[in-house]
Order: sequence, then structure tokens, then C-alpha cells
Amino acid sequence: MNNMGLWKLLNRILRYVMPYRWLVVTTLLLTLLGSILAQVNALVLDRAVDAINVVNQQPQLSWKSASRILLVISAVLLGKELLAAVVNFFRRYYGERMRILVSRDLSLQVVKHILTFKMAFFTTSGNEAGRLQSRIDKGVTSTSKAVNSFFIDILPLFTSAVLALILMFAANFYVGLVALCIVPIYFYVTYIQAERMRAGRKGIFDGQQAVSQSILNIIESIPVIKSFNREEIEHERQKYVQDSLTNLQLSTRKKSYFFTGLKGFLEQIGTVLVIILTAYLVLIDYPGMTIGKIMYHVMLFANVSAPIRQLHRIYDDLNDALIYSEELFGLLEGTEDVEQTGDYHPEKVTGHFEVKNVDFTYPNGVKALHDVSMVIEPGKITALVGMSGAGKSTVVNLLDKFYHPDSGTICFDGVPIDKWNTQWLREHVGLVMQKNHIFDGSIEENILYGNPKATHEDVLRAAKQAFLYDQVMELPEGFNSSALRLSGGQQQRVAIARLFIKDPAVIILDEPTASLDAIATEQIKASLDAIKQGRTVIIISHNIGQIVDADQLYVLEQGRVVQSGKPMEVYQQGGRYKEIFDASARSMNADKIAEVLDN
Ligand code: ADP
Repeated sequence: MNNMGLWKLLNRILRYVMPYRWLVVTTLLLTLLGSILAQVNALVLDRAVDAINVVNQQPQLSWKSASRILLVISAVLLGKELLAAVVNFFRRYYGERMRILVSRDLSLQVVKHILTFKMAFFTTSGNEAGRLQSRIDKGVTSTSKAVNSFFIDILPLFTSAVLALILMFAANFYVGLVALCIVPIYFYVTYIQAERMRAGRKGIFDGQQAVSQSILNIIESIPVIKSFNREEIEHERQKYVQDSLTNLQLSTRKKSYFFTGLKGFLEQIGTVLVIILTAYLVLIDYPGMTIGKIMYHVMLFANVSAPIRQLHRIYDDLNDALIYSEELFGLLEGTEDVEQTGDYHPEKVTGHFEVKNVDFTYPNGVKALHDVSMVIEPGKITALVGMSGAGKSTVVNLLDKFYHPDSGTICFDGVPIDKWNTQWLREHVGLVMQKNHIFDGSIEENILYGNPKATHEDVLRAAKQAFLYDQVMELPEGFNSSALRLSGGQQQRVAIARLFIKDPAVIILDEPTASLDAIATEQIKASLDAIKQGRTVIIISHNIGQIVDADQLYVLEQGRVVQSGKPMEVYQQGGRYKEIFDASARSMNADKIAEVLDN
């Protein structure tokens, strides 16, 4: 174990334990009391055996002395057990309480902190949802376990062992010495055990993750597996993952049992040595050594070795914490990923964007925009057109401050967006994306996400504007139905209702009708026409019907603006836009449709 790391870990943990310092102090005092109580049995037995011996040596058995001895033994032992039960209850409860509270604080703090991180953090590889979650989880669990080890486990282990050793030394120096010599051997074996088993433990953790990931994959892709009849293959794959985990588990267990046996054997050797030595001392009439002292030392030695038996568990916990807490504290203390914000937050927002010579590269190195310039005016519809991957969504990401340009400037209402308060800017930008995130919750809760202060009536109105109301009312639970059960198109309308309730100055629609049928598209178009009055609308769409309505058009190709202007003018220029437009019309079979309509 790395001592520097341990010291650093203790320091970091201390900050989270400080709020519960009284809990720590109380637990430690109880621990001390428990350790003292643990020695009572040995003391009682020592006295009892000697007292019984004295009674025994008299020619006539004195019932009075005998019953007095038995009464005192029972009273002391029972009283001690009762007290120990109460002390242990509170010691365990307070210790556990502290672990749970610290664990909660760590989880809350890490969630609070990563919520402030910029988008780039979440799209960096290694930070995908599942992986990030399991790293946080492992970090929190292992760190709070370390809290327990530091403050609850290590101390009783040492106090009890040290107290027992002191009593042994006080009774007889040589017996104390023998017990003391066993301790370092024990520590050494524990150390070897932990080191030998470390790789196995890490492997088992990874293996368990692989198994659950693979089960998750199967459940998620059930329709594909079934339609291609790939059950057998999936089963084989699962068997492979399970088998390698099983082998590792078995070999690790084997090692662990070997060490448990070795330590048990060492402990017995210690006990035998103590018995031989004390018996010898009694036989040679060594001053202070009586038959009672044999029992006394044997019991005390058990108090020395028993806590040390748990040493390897604590060692493992601390090792885990050293490995996994690094990551957790990286997240907790990291500032480089925190989103930047300015302080400009005017009362009135018009919704005018000006993008000037912007270059942009994603964190993974993909250069998505080259020298892009555009003006997006309030009260007008601006459409971004281009093939898939041209950079349209990237422009939107930059306007909403999800990412920052490499070079160039973006101004909102004439002020560079870096200077804007990020939350205030987003308060005035409404985003409807291709895949709108629906949360686990009711339809009403999902719509309210657009404005938590809105009333139930506002929700109903927004649902009507988004042509969602009638469909929701047909569901048995109406607006209390789970939003996750809605169809793709209905979920899209929840997102649009959210926009109505948010009522922002700027509306950005990134293929809002991509997953809707024709009737729904027309209805949505009508409601969007209503909402866009007096606002800035930016629309990305493959639907030429929506593009021709735009006041201004920017055609993107491989991250560059290649054409711009009014739709009609741009079409007449020819070029990329005409190609896309004509291909769209052909794919819709526009000639035939016109024929049908004419007839
Ligand atoms: P469009 O919206 O026009 O289909 P995008 O703006 O989504 O195109 O993508 C532009 C380019 O940026 C593509 O090459 C795409 O692969 C890349 N890209 C998009 N999002 C990310 C991301 N989060 N990380 C890295 N590259 C990305």
C-alpha cells in the first residue's frame, strides 16, 4: 500500500467526515469502552480459578464460599454482557450511520458538481453514461467503506489488541513477549495475502461488470436477437463471459482459504506457545503465576489475535479506496470541466444571433465547422440545410453555448455569448431536437420541465397547442400516464408542448418532425406557425415543405457555408441546394403526386 496515497486519502475524506465529528468521537469512546469490556472475561476467570482453588484446598467444602464465588462470577459476567450488548449496538449503529451519511454527501456532491460540467465532458470517450455511473458508484462505495475502516474498524482493532498485550505484559513479561512476537508474523502474512489477491479482486470486479453489461445488452437487443434467431450465439457469448469470471472467482477463493488456514494455524501455534510457557511457569512456581493465570493469558491472547484476523479485510477496503477514490475526488475537485458563464443578463431579449468566422473542433479532434458566418434575425425563420454530417446540429450546439468555438465570435443581441450568463441565455432559447429526452415520469411532469412554475391549466393549454391534448385524454390515466410509454411522435409533441410552456424568444428546431406521420407533421407545422410570431426561429429539416417557408437559408457542406439567401434565390443559383431540393422532390414522387392532386 502506498503511504503517501493513504495520507492524501485520509485528508480528503476528513473534509466529508468533519460535519459528523461528534458521531466519530462518540463511536470512538464507545469503541474504547467495548475494548475494555472485552478483557473482563479473562480477568474474571483468572480470579475465579484461583478463588476456586483456595476453596478446594480446604478439607471440608464450604458451601457458603462456593456459592459466593459462583454468584459473583455470574453477576459480573452477565452484567458485562448486558453492558457490552448496549455498547456494541450503539457503536455499530453510529458507525454505520456515519458511513451512510458520508456516502450520501459524496453522491450528492458529485452529482451537483458534474451537473455544472460542460457538454464536452459528457461526450468525451470514457464518460459514457454506464461507465461514468459505475465509476461514481464504485468510488462512493469504496470511499465510504474507507471511512468505516479508518474511524470505526482500525481503532478497536488496535485498542483491543494493545490493551490485551499490556495486561499480558503486566502479568508476566515473558508471556507478553511471546504474544508480541506473533503479531508481526501475522501482519506479514496478512500483507502477503492482500498483495497476492489484489489482482484477482480487481479481475472479479471487472468480470462482474462485463457480465451485467452483457445481460443488459441482451435485454436491450431482444427484438434483433429474436428476429435473426441468434439466441444460441448470445447464450454462447454469455457462457464465455461467465466462465472466465467463475474461474477467477474459484482461484481467488482458493488462495483466500489457503491464507485463512495459514493464519488459523499460526494463531493456534501462538496459543500453544502461551499454554506451554504459562504451564511451565506455574510448574516451577514462578512468582505471581497461578493456575488461573494460564486461562487468563490464553484468553488475552485470543483478544490479541482475533482483531488482527480482520486486518486483511480492512487492508482490502483501504486498497480499493486508494484505487477508486482517485477518480471520485478527480470529479469532485476538478474545475477544468466546469462550464464557463458570464454575468450579462438583460431584462429584455430580442433574439438576434450573429456568427462571425467561426471554426470549431469537437474534443475528439473532428473539425466540424470552417469559417462559418451567419446572421439570424428576430421575427424570421432561418433554415439550415445540408446533408447529414454537414455541421447543422453543431451550429445549434454553439448557439446554445454547449461548446465554444476555436476561433471567431458569436454574438447574441450584439453581446458576445461568452459574456452572457449561460443560464439566462438558455432560458431564452427553446430547443426541440431530433430525439427529445423524455424523463421517467408522467406526461404532465415532462411538460412542466419547460417551466416548473407553470400551472395545470398552462400544461393543458400547451398540450392543446402541440396537438397532444386529445390523444392524452384518451389514455386511462390522462396526463398522469407515463411519458415513456408514448409513441415517438407523441413524445415529440411532449417536447413541443414543453417549448410552448417555456415561451422562449428563440426557437431552435432540429428536425422536429422527423419521427412524425404526415398528419401530425401538418398539425405541428400549424402550431409552430402560431408560436413563431415575433420570435427567432431556426429550423433544421430534411422536409423541403418546411424549408421553403423560411425567410433565410444557409446551406452547409462539410462544415462550410456554401450558399445563403432567400429560398427562391438560392434555388435559382443552382448548386448544392438545388441538388438537395430536386432529389427531395423526386424521392417524394412529386410529379405523380401533382398528377393525383390535379385529377
Ligand atoms: P448534421 O447536424 O449536419 O447532420 P453534425 O453537426 O451532427 O451534422 O455533425 C458534423 C460533424 O461533427 C460530423 O462529422 C459528426 O460526425 C461530428 N460530430 C457531431 N457530434 C459530435 C460529437 N459529440 N463529438 C465528435 N464529433 C461529433
